[in-house]
Amino acid sequence: MESYDAVIIGAGPAGCASALFLHRAGYKVIVLDRALFPRDKVCGEFISPAADSILEDLGVLSSIEEENPERVRGVFISSYGGAELGIDYPPIEKGQKSPTSLSVPRFLLDNLLLKQLKNVGIKVLEEHSVDDFIFDSGNVVGIKVKAPENHRLEITTKVVIDAGGRNAISLRRLNLKNKIKNEGKIAIAAHWKNIRLPQAYCYMHVGSPGYTGIAQVARDTINAVMITGTSQIKGQNITEFYKNGIKQNKKRRALLAGAELAEEPRTVESLAFSVKAPKCGGLVLVGDAAGFIDPFTGEGIYLSLRSAQLAATTLDCAFKTSNFSRSKLAEYDQARSNEFSAKFTLSKILQKVIYNRRLCNLVVKNLSKNPFLADEIVGVIGDYLPAKNAVSLRFLIKFLRGILSPQNKLIDTTVSEALNA
Ligand SMILES: Cc1cc2nc3c(=O)[nH]c(=O)nc-3n(C[C@H](O)[C@H](O)[C@H](O)COP(=O)(O)OP(=O)(O)OC[C@H]3O[C@@H](n4cnc5c(N)ncnc54)[C@H](O)[C@@H]3O)c2cc1C
Repeated sequence: MESYDAVIIGAGPAGCASALFLHRAGYKVIVLDRALFPRDKVCGEFISPAADSILEDLGVLSSIEEENPERVRGVFISSYGGAELGIDYPPIEKGQKSPTSLSVPRFLLDNLLLKQLKNVGIKVLEEHSVDDFIFDSGNVVGIKVKAPENHRLEITTKVVIDAGGRNAISLRRLNLKNKIKNEGKIAIAAHWKNIRLPQAYCYMHVGSPGYTGIAQVARDTINAVMITGTSQIKGQNITEFYKNGIKQNKKRRALLAGAELAEEPRTVESLAFSVKAPKCGGLVLVGDAAGFIDPFTGEGIYLSLRSAQLAATTLDCAFKTSNFSRSKLAEYDQARSNEFSAKFTLSKILQKVIYNRRLCNLVVKNLSKNPFLADEIVGVIGDYLPAKNAVSLRFLIKFLRGILSPQNKLIDTTVSEALNA
């Protein structure tokens, strides 16, 4: 039985960031991951500009920069093969240069994060799967681990940070995932080689059989993720479905002309979900384990890093007062909710928009005529403008004004499009 101040389950962005923040504050931490690194992960691999400062603070940005990573200057949106628009990130402050966002394969990014743990002397156990908690008086005080060669291990601690992602042990063991009523969605992702995109955008194509996010992740390599309904696949071969789905959209077809699939596409169930706070003390959830936002706005990595930062602040105070009760740790849940809830609402609104062809066309056209609104949306998606800027009555009024303004004729165009469809 070994003992640590904090045990961290998972060495993804949330787990590594949690470990680095707590280690720097002087606490003895250990990180366990069931995978052997470097490991891959289905992801759009496109990181919000706001993540740069956290990665720098963690001491990882310089090692990412040494790899000469791709950087993206904004988002290009195309709606059902029709209306389209490229939006550059607006400057963080007036008169400043516009920020850019990293676009890095997860195989590389997650491994650099893990290396940083080892560089600063944090103990990491790979190929160790946490399969239960140790409880005392209803509170979590440790973990039970399946180690290689069927060895078992128990580790006691003051607090467990579950950063195990979408299928985190806490969600299953403590039944914390809220049930979802929507149709199941699946993400299919692959890298393509021999391709250089025309501009440094993350290309979001909304259309049939789903939407895709395409970004340059290396000199001649792109990552293309398609999100579609599970029912659309109906027993078809995944690779064929994916290749045909990409080519079904003329804009995607043009973009990927001459490119070759570099690997077999990988899949992951891709549904947004929310999570109930645990009822016990001694446990906090960070990153995807605390809730998953649909990847359309592509900021899960930033949210993971930022939630780790918020959790570390609450935990530092918990260590200083030796108070790991549920009510103390709930301060983190509250801070997280204060900061992210408007963003989650925006993500839900965008989901409604992208799955409605007419509405999606209308929104993209309106944004193209109102650069100010487009800038606000992209700044919010980039996580450096407050989400409440876009989830507000003020924004809605400006948006409706844009639609109703006679010179825009957006309603007329949309109605005539609908009649011609
Ligand atoms: C289709 C898709 C596209 C996406 N695109 C983007 C994008 O473009 N940009 C972006 O920012 N975000 C994107 N995301 C979201 C992003 O991938 C996640 O938000 C991010 O990976 C969450 O990090 P995490 O550290 O919480 O979890 P993860 O990265 O999932 O890491 C969890 C780790 O925990 C380990 N683990 C789990 N359970 C246990 C256990 N019981 N014992 C030991 N180890 C365990 C796993 O092996 C894993 O290494 C996308 C997600 C999907 C599904």
